[in-house]
Amino acid sequence: MQLQIYNTLKREKELFVPRIPGKVSMYLCGPTVYNRIHLGNARTFVLGDTIRRILSFLGYDVTYVQNFTDVDDKIIVRAAELNITVDELVEQEIKNYFEDAKALGILPADKHPRVTAHIGDIIAFIGDLIAGGFAYVGGGDVFYDVQKFPAYGQLSGQKLDDLVMGSRVEAGEAKRHPADFALWKGAKPGEPFWDSPWGKGRPGWHIECSAMVRAELGGHIDIHAGGMDLQFPHHENELAQSEALCSGEPFARYWVHGAFLNVNDGKMSKSQGNFFILSDVLKRYDGNIVRFFLQSAHYRKPLSFDATSLDSATVALNRLRNACGALEHVLTALNAPQAAGEMLNLDQYEARFKSALADDFNTAEAWGVLFELARDANAALALKGIANAELALSLMQRLAGVLGVELTVDRSLDEEIEALIARREEARFARDYWTADNIRVLLAELGIELLDTPQGVRWKLK
Ligand code: AMP
Ligand code: ZN
Repeated sequence: MQLQIYNTLKREKELFVPRIPGKVSMYLCGPTVYNRIHLGNARTFVLGDTIRRILSFLGYDVTYVQNFTDVDDKIIVRAAELNITVDELVEQEIKNYFEDAKALGILPADKHPRVTAHIGDIIAFIGDLIAGGFAYVGGGDVFYDVQKFPAYGQLSGQKLDDLVMGSRVEAGEAKRHPADFALWKGAKPGEPFWDSPWGKGRPGWHIECSAMVRAELGGHIDIHAGGMDLQFPHHENELAQSEALCSGEPFARYWVHGAFLNVNDGKMSKSQGNFFILSDVLKRYDGNIVRFFLQSAHYRKPLSFDATSLDSATVALNRLRNACGALEHVLTALNAPQAAGEMLNLDQYEARFKSALADDFNTAEAWGVLFELARDANAALALKGIANAELALSLMQRLAGVLGVELTVDRSLDEEIEALIARREEARFARDYWTADNIRVLLAELGIELLDTPQGVRWKLK
């Protein structure tokens, strides 16, 4: 299976060729830990986890790193608001992040480096840039000298001259060019600081990722990912920093950027106030549903969120859960996995599922293949039955699992429901239609629909 990835740097889909055959190193810019993540952030973190899982499914040995930005103005401000220390806030928010990630089926990365644990690496990186002539000391700060890096602007498709217009030099900043950016910021009163060869201060945001990539994965990686808003300036600057020291070989072979989750056509963001905190959403919806919803559009296409999105996703995912339930039912009702009936050609679903994912991680199309499998299984069950029901069921669950979604049929209500169904059957047998009807209504209120099948009464989630 030939994997194609859309590379932002080249603005086209390219055949994926990792640096080392069979192995992939991947880095995704993680959260700034000052607040619980919102659904928009979740789209990007689910994307990283999904790509990682797809790469494993396609047979690659993946090393995945996602950082925590634990030094930032927003963290300092929020800790002060809450009247707690920066450390307390950071610990709390990292714990919250892992809780949210777990609910969404996001596996822990192989490494989750924190900026504060890599200050030495960051200082060493800045030192290398100064030694190489790519950075300079100005006042108490250190700046990257964009004019020394001719390819500056390549990732975001901008020219240095155009960037002069868009950049500002703040009063007191000793920049040589308006697009120069801080690698090290001199300490300000009341803020966390570290000692460095350039005085007390703290790192700039962009250098953190370059240094953590180098420390955790080496100077070159296969895939660098993040949300679309990070393309410029964050990733442009990361590229400039890392490639200044890279001697010809690209820093990241493929740059992958995820589109936004939108609300009313605008990006969901904290600053716009149009955000939904993920943990609030998870009080009402199962993480599998949220994850499925976030994968329902191609990652490079904007996805709109509104009041009906997650209910529609629930209905859609229940179609797959019900198909699994129906397959399970024939298996248990007949107690014969090799039951008679039609033999579904399962290989072709898996092949098409795989090729959808190998085409620039097209999860929307891959889910479409699973819906076809569910539809075909339901149709076959309604006619002659399925000879390979057990395999069909395990395939559907395994492929959903590749995308990190558990397609388990909810069995928590089973006993209660089965007991009600049995009582209804007894009532019907005794011609007590009043009781039988009441039970049907009660089940309907629980969201259960009854189906009379050749194998007896079955039920499914509405
Ligand atoms: P932050 O914590 O603000 O640095 O954001 C963490 C990640 O979430 C970044 O990769 C952003 O690109 C991403 N992100 C923020 N808002 C959205 C959104 N509405 N849709 C998708 N990704 C987002
Ligand atoms: Zn980053």
